[in-house]
Amino acid sequence: NSFADSKLPDNVLECCKGFDKPSPIQAHAWPFLLDNRDFIGIAQTGSGKTLAFGIPAIMHVLGKRKGDNSRRVNPICLFLSPTRELAQQIADVLCDAGKSCGVKSACFYGGTSKGPQLSALRSGIDLVIATPGRLKDLIEMGKCHLQDVSFVVLDEADRMLDMGFEQDVRSILSQTNSDRQMVMFSATWPMEVHQLANEFMDPNPIKV
Ligand code: AMP
Repeated sequence: NSFADSKLPDNVLECCKGFDKPSPIQAHAWPFLLDNRDFIGIAQTGSGKTLAFGIPAIMHVLGKRKGDNSRRVNPICLFLSPTRELAQQIADVLCDAGKSCGVKSACFYGGTSKGPQLSALRSGIDLVIATPGRLKDLIEMGKCHLQDVSFVVLDEADRMLDMGFEQDVRSILSQTNSDRQMVMFSATWPMEVHQLANEFMDPNPIKV
C-alpha cells in the first residue's frame, strides 16, 4: 500500500508526487487493471477514482507503443462521462498525468464549437474523454474512429443511463475493439447498469 509497491514507473507516478500513498480505490484497482482485468468500481467522486483508472489507462497506451513513440492517429483509451463538467474534470487530471510520459488527451462535449475538437483529432490523441452525444456526432461525421480503442472507462454509469444516454453508449461501445478492457464506475448498481455490464464486459469482472 505504497507507491513503491505499485511498481509503476517514476515518470507515470510523477502526477502523484504530492500524495503520501495510493488511495484505497487506487490500491485496489491498480493491480487488477494493470493485469488487463475488467473492473467494476462502486466509488464516489473524491475517492481518487480518476487516477485509479487513469494511471492504468496511461500504462495501457505505453504498453501499446512498445518503443514506437510515433504519435498514433486513432485513440487507444476512451472515457465516457455523463456531463461536460465531469468530462472536463477527468480531462484535466489525465492531461496533467499524461504530460510526464508523452500521453496526449482531448476532451469532447457538446455546447461548444467542434473546431478545436476536430483539430485535436487530426493531430492524434491517445486518450479521449467525452460525453456520449458529442462523441456520437464526431463518429457520424467520420472524424473519430474507435477501432483502436482497447481500454474503455464508463464513469458514473448509473447517471449516464439515467440521463438517457443508453443507446448512444451502446452504439459507441460496439465500435470499440472487441478485445477491449472495460472499466465501469457507478455510485449505484441498478438493473440497467447490470445489463450493460453483462453485455459488454467479461463474464467475471472484478468488483470493488
Ligand atoms: P477524484 O475522486 O478522482 O475526483 O479525486 C479527488 C481528489 O483526490 C483530487 O483532488 C485528487 O487530486 C486527490 N487524490 C487523488 N489521489 C490521491 C491520493 N493517492 N492521495 C491523496 N489525494 C489524492
